[in-house]
Amino acid sequence: MIDLRSDTVTLPKQEMLEAILHAQLGDDIMGEDPTVNQLEKEFAKLLGMEAALLVTSGTMANQVAIMSFCNRGEEIIMGEDSHIFTLEGAATSTVAQVQIRPIPVNGGSYDLAKIENAINVGDIQRPRTSLICLENTYNLNKGEIIPLENLKEIRKLANEYHLPIYMDGARLFNASVELNVDPIIICQEVDAVQICLTKGLGCPIGSILAGSKAFIDKAILNRQRLGGGMRQAGIIAAPALYALEHMVNRLKEDNDRAKVLAQRLAKLDGLSIDLADVQTNIVSPKLEKDHWNSQKLIDYLLKKGIKVKNIGKKQVRMIVHYLITDEDIDEVVASFASFTKAHA
Ligand SMILES: *Cc1c(COP(=O)(O)O)cnc(C)c1O
Repeated sequence: MIDLRSDTVTLPKQEMLEAILHAQLGDDIMGEDPTVNQLEKEFAKLLGMEAALLVTSGTMANQVAIMSFCNRGEEIIMGEDSHIFTLEGAATSTVAQVQIRPIPVNGGSYDLAKIENAINVGDIQRPRTSLICLENTYNLNKGEIIPLENLKEIRKLANEYHLPIYMDGARLFNASVELNVDPIIICQEVDAVQICLTKGLGCPIGSILAGSKAFIDKAILNRQRLGGGMRQAGIIAAPALYALEHMVNRLKEDNDRAKVLAQRLAKLDGLSIDLADVQTNIVSPKLEKDHWNSQKLIDYLLKKGIKVKNIGKKQVRMIVHYLITDEDIDEVVASFASFTKAHA
């Protein structure tokens, strides 16, 4: 099977499983798991943040961050296609009890005027804005990069209003390797960031939240409130230490393969892809023929041993990851081509 539904389908490498077997463990709620402590220290350093915290998932990282930045009844500005808004079971409203103010985002760039318009200083009717939340890469069906210039402008605006910025950087390293900049350069413009260990990095479990020491102290309490305090969590941290060393820089390969895939698919009759959207490892072609639909294509590809994700009646998504080779890309393109011919 060539499974392109998500980079979360990546299985841990043998070396990761071996790292688990040899990890030194302790009670992490007591702060005594040496492997977790090492991971948090290394991540903080890599991101240029004072401290970091291992949590169970990207969703937990996001909600812990929101609970740590915001009070109940306040408002967060974020892009309308953000994972926090669309795919977290309304945790922001039900658990953190904070309201989301969604704004459109154009190709990974946030419109400063739209952000500024959405800011409420708070009065008897309007909830006070207490956080700006960015996603980088933005839109899990596109994977767009927030341009560095845009990020700096948002920082300036946020400073004017004394607002903190949180970055959901589930796939931040796909952006940093593509821009060829140190992740510190991106993270220095935000107050806190989360990175998923389970996407392109290939770990089985976990996310890392990073920020100031004071923020992480609050985050530890909020993680505990959500039941996310863990004991011998070194079994989660050990694969992540392997990933830090071996899986970060290779993400450029995934981005490059995604671009090749997109360019080749865009040439096929009946498929359309906005190549400007394909900035990292995500390719989402649209079906342009009236008698085609996503399910028909998905069923066809499945028979050829290829899995893609249905993201709309006339659109499917593919995310390239470390298990996908150049030969796989050839095979996927050939199968799409035979679909377009068979159903012309
Ligand atoms: C995957 C993802 C998350 C959530 O991560 P989980 O570990 O699945 O909870 C959050 N934000 C973005 C942008 C993601 O892609």
